Amino acid sequence: MTIYDRASRHAWWMLGALTVSVLFVAVVDRFYGHSTLAFAAAIVGLVVANRRMLSYNCPHCGKNLFFRGLFVVPWPNRTCGKCGAALDRTRP
Ligand SMILES: [Zn+2]
Repeated sequence: MTIYDRASRHAWWMLGALTVSVLFVAVVDRFYGHSTLAFAAAIVGLVVANRRMLSYNCPHCGKNLFFRGLFVVPWPNRTCGKCGAALDRTRP
Protein backbone atom coordinates (compact mmCIF):
# COMPACT_ATOMS: atom_id res chain seq x y z
CA MET A 1 0.00 0.00 0.00
CA THR A 2 1.41 3.37 -1.01
CA ILE A 3 1.57 6.47 1.17
CA TYR A 4 -1.11 8.02 -1.05
CA ASP A 5 -3.46 5.05 -0.41
CA ARG A 6 -2.94 5.34 3.33
CA ALA A 7 -3.46 9.11 3.22
CA SER A 8 -6.68 8.67 1.16
CA ARG A 9 -7.93 6.14 3.69
CA HIS A 10 -7.25 8.72 6.40
CA ALA A 11 -9.21 11.33 4.41
CA TRP A 12 -12.23 8.95 4.31
CA TRP A 13 -11.83 8.24 8.01
CA MET A 14 -11.91 11.98 8.70
CA LEU A 15 -15.08 12.35 6.61
CA GLY A 16 -16.68 9.64 8.79
CA ALA A 17 -15.42 11.31 11.97
CA LEU A 18 -16.86 14.63 10.80
CA THR A 19 -20.25 13.02 10.08
CA VAL A 20 -20.29 11.38 13.52
CA SER A 21 -19.36 14.72 15.17
CA VAL A 22 -22.12 16.61 13.36
CA LEU A 23 -24.66 13.90 14.29
CA PHE A 24 -23.44 13.93 17.91
CA VAL A 25 -23.90 17.71 18.21
CA ALA A 26 -27.30 17.46 16.47
CA VAL A 27 -28.51 14.68 18.81
CA VAL A 28 -27.34 16.51 21.95
CA ASP A 29 -28.97 19.68 20.62
CA ARG A 30 -32.24 17.81 20.03
CA PHE A 31 -32.47 16.09 23.43
CA TYR A 32 -30.68 18.43 25.85
CA GLY A 33 -30.95 21.79 24.14
CA HIS A 34 -28.09 23.84 22.72
CA SER A 35 -24.78 22.88 24.30
CA THR A 36 -21.41 24.56 23.81
CA LEU A 37 -19.88 21.62 25.69
CA ALA A 38 -21.08 19.10 23.08
CA PHE A 39 -19.64 21.32 20.37
CA ALA A 40 -16.31 21.55 22.20
CA ALA A 41 -16.24 17.77 22.65
CA ALA A 42 -16.87 17.30 18.91
CA ILE A 43 -13.99 19.68 18.03
CA VAL A 44 -11.60 17.93 20.44
CA GLY A 45 -12.69 14.57 19.00
CA LEU A 46 -11.97 15.76 15.46
CA VAL A 47 -8.53 17.10 16.38
CA VAL A 48 -7.69 13.77 18.07
CA ALA A 49 -9.01 11.83 15.04
CA ASN A 50 -6.90 13.99 12.74
CA ARG A 51 -3.61 13.68 14.66
CA ARG A 52 -2.42 10.94 12.27
CA MET A 53 -2.55 13.45 9.41
CA LEU A 54 0.89 14.76 10.38
CA SER A 55 2.46 11.33 9.78
CA TYR A 56 1.58 11.23 6.05
CA ASN A 57 4.76 12.66 4.60
CA CYS A 58 6.55 12.23 1.29
CA PRO A 59 9.12 9.40 1.73
CA HIS A 60 11.68 11.37 -0.32
CA CYS A 61 11.59 14.92 1.01
CA GLY A 62 9.28 14.72 4.04
CA LYS A 63 6.65 17.17 2.79
CA ASN A 64 3.17 16.45 4.18
CA LEU A 65 0.66 15.16 1.61
CA PHE A 66 -2.15 17.32 2.97
CA PHE A 67 -0.28 20.63 2.80
CA ARG A 68 -0.36 22.89 -0.26
CA GLY A 69 2.04 25.61 0.67
CA LEU A 70 0.54 27.28 3.74
CA PHE A 71 -2.86 25.65 3.26
CA VAL A 72 -4.14 22.32 4.51
CA VAL A 73 -6.60 20.54 2.22
CA PRO A 74 -8.77 17.51 3.11
CA TRP A 75 -7.43 15.38 0.23
CA PRO A 76 -3.80 14.17 -0.17
CA ASN A 77 -1.49 15.01 -3.07
CA ARG A 78 -1.00 12.29 -5.71
CA THR A 79 2.29 13.90 -6.68
CA CYS A 80 4.59 15.48 -4.12
CA GLY A 81 4.34 19.27 -4.35
CA LYS A 82 7.97 19.72 -3.40
CA CYS A 83 10.04 17.01 -5.10
CA GLY A 84 7.49 15.75 -7.67
CA ALA A 85 7.61 12.09 -6.58
CA ALA A 86 4.61 9.96 -7.63
CA LEU A 87 3.10 9.04 -4.28
CA ASP A 88 0.41 6.72 -5.66
CA ARG A 89 2.99 4.28 -7.06
CA THR A 90 5.20 1.92 -5.15
CA ARG A 91 8.18 2.72 -7.36
CA PRO A 92 8.28 6.39 -8.40
ZN1 LIG B 1 8.59 14.89 -1.90
